[in-house]
Amino acid sequence: MLEAIDRIPRHFFLDSAFDEKAYEDKAFPIGEGQTISQPYTVAYQTQLLELKPFNKVLEIGTGSAYQAVVLAEMGVQVYTIERQKKLFDNNKTFAFLKKYPSIKFFYGDGYEGLPTYGPFDRVIITAAAPEIPPKLIEQLKPGGMMVIPLGAGDSQQMMRVTKLESGAVKEEVFDRFSFVPMLGGKK
Ligand code: SAH
Repeated sequence: MLEAIDRIPRHFFLDSAFDEKAYEDKAFPIGEGQTISQPYTVAYQTQLLELKPFNKVLEIGTGSAYQAVVLAEMGVQVYTIERQKKLFDNNKTFAFLKKYPSIKFFYGDGYEGLPTYGPFDRVIITAAAPEIPPKLIEQLKPGGMMVIPLGAGDSQQMMRVTKLESGAVKEEVFDRFSFVPMLGGKK
């Protein structure tokens, strides 16, 4: 995972005004009131996913596409959803992404997931979710895992939810983080 992060020029994902700061371990604005996650947070969530080669991974909250590229660099099949048209459209003209033709970008509401493309081995939510989205649990394969920052307040509890073969879920609790909110509907 650290090798994947090492291979990715983070300054490409930020406005050139941030060129000198792009490799600091901080979140930065990407427009529309959203942020590119702090590298530590990206690494933390990615590690919790325990990815296996060729896993089918659904990401909620494409934003700058940085997390999606980290996942693609690790050799998994990425499906990513963004609810803000402006941010979704920005990625259509982001030349660096031509290096990752396998990433599939969707404009939509992450609460709905991608029923026609599922089920997924992994789901990663990169915005603060007030609750575990039931449709995303439905779209997880048995044995699959979701990494989700859970909570509606100023900070969230990082959780890993595993869908057991029986269909029941197991929840594990990790550190606290601060994310922008996961909002319903498209914008
Ligand atoms: N993974 C991104 C982080 C972006 S911040 C990156 O690496 O840059 C979180 C993103 O989630 C924002 O772009 C926000 O618009 C988006 N988002 C919030 N709620 C969403 C929802 N219901 N469905 C899809 N995207 C959502």
